[in-house]
Amino acid sequence: MGKEIICKSCGASFDEDLVRCPYCGSGHLPAEENEHMQKLEDIRRDLQDYETENVKKPGRKLAKAIILILLVVAVIVAIVIAGIWMSGNKERDKREQKKDDFLKNQGISTQVEDSGR
Ligand SMILES: [Zn+2]
Repeated sequence: MGKEIICKSCGASFDEDLVRCPYCGSGHLPAEENEHMQKLEDIRRDLQDYETENVKKPGRKLAKAIILILLVVAVIVAIVIAGIWMSGNKERDKREQKKDDFLKNQGISTQVEDSGR
């Protein structure tokens, strides 16, 4: 309960929380304004709640889904790259082996030629 105020119309004192004077029924502006502002505030809060529930939450879900998809894609790409790299290494190893064998053969033949001199 607020403090007592004097009615501008009839001069009676009544609680300032009352929207209207209980004696003459004339409007008490600050209380009326407060009630109006309270309604506006309620609407604003409702709108905020609506926005939070219908815009922000799905946005977070979408962001999480995008992050999850990116992680999955990154893992798949890493596996594919690892597979290519491994198979590439194997191919290179085979080629290196062939080159080594060829060089060994050449080396042996060169050695044979050298020892022949
Ligand atoms: Zn009054």
